[in-house]
Amino acid sequence: MKDIEAALARQKGQLDKFSNALSGPDLRKKVLALIPVVHGIRDIGSSLISREDASSGRDRVLFYLRAYPRTLIAGDELAVISGIQDWPRRVRELRVEFGWWIYSGVTFRQLLSEAGDDSGELERLTSDLKDLLGVEPGRIRTDQYVLMRDEQDRDAAHRWNVLNGIRRDKSLTSVKAKLLAYFRKNPGHPITGEELRYLAKDKSEWARRTRELRTEDGWPVLTRQQGRPDLPVGSYVLEEDRQAPAHDRKIADPVRIEVLERDGFACRVCGWTRDKASRDDPRRLLELHHVHEHRDGGKNEADNLVTLCNVDHDEVHAGRLDLAAKLH
Ligand SMILES: [Zn+2]
Ligand SMILES: [Zn+2]
Repeated sequence: MKDIEAALARQKGQLDKFSNALSGPDLRKKVLALIPVVHGIRDIGSSLISREDASSGRDRVLFYLRAYPRTLIAGDELAVISGIQDWPRRVRELRVEFGWWIYSGVTFRQLLSEAGDDSGELERLTSDLKDLLGVEPGRIRTDQYVLMRDEQDRDAAHRWNVLNGIRRDKSLTSVKAKLLAYFRKNPGHPITGEELRYLAKDKSEWARRTRELRTEDGWPVLTRQQGRPDLPVGSYVLEEDRQAPAHDRKIADPVRIEVLERDGFACRVCGWTRDKASRDDPRRLLELHHVHEHRDGGKNEADNLVTLCNVDHDEVHAGRLDLAAKLH
């Protein structure tokens, strides 16, 4: 606490000088006398964390966020604790170069504004966020930050390069094409909403387009609300680099969830569940199959759908497996 006492003593001296300057008529003298006070505030803020714990502004930001994970932290707090003016740049570095999952309020707000309200997604997202942060999601401000998990993504620097390459790629003309390209570079690896927002150059449509990859285009992009309850809220994973056959797409999310829940999130043929996934097992996904083929008039309704693992699903479509005899 020696540092802070010294910083406080200096600050008192600077405030006295500022008081003296107030008695004169010269505006500029007052401003100039206030500058050391502003710097003094930074010294006091940065001395709140000992040098052994954190020696740079960036380290202090990280130390503070890690002391309060999954908590909404105001930008002003980071300004105080970092003791530096360009703390937003340090937050960005921690996020993209060092792989800390630091979400900004902007991302949460865009997630909420773009959530599908037809499938109960918005409702689940709202309650997940409330559980996580302890506040009504409507009160999240754009100048707040949250450390989502107290764990560093070691791959971050490499992913950052890939992300920037795709972001600048002129052959990818839509936000959705960029999102898909990035997911396909990272199958099986959780991706943050922050990365997707950056990829979309801050256009809020990233959340909606990402959902469409699953609901309209048949890519297994899963979230905490959609099939991967182990993921942190606001993150995504492309379970496998594989697009569902055209006839199995466009099943409405509420129906999809109803079928998965009815079948206990298990393949109706072999009983495989996602928690059994292992590196040398070709079963990776749960998919929905139409008992009565969609193209022959089979409906996208729960009664006509069964949960299958990707292997048994392929077998059925290849005509090597008689589903009616196998279902249980
Ligand atoms: Zn199976
Ligand atoms: Zn099928």
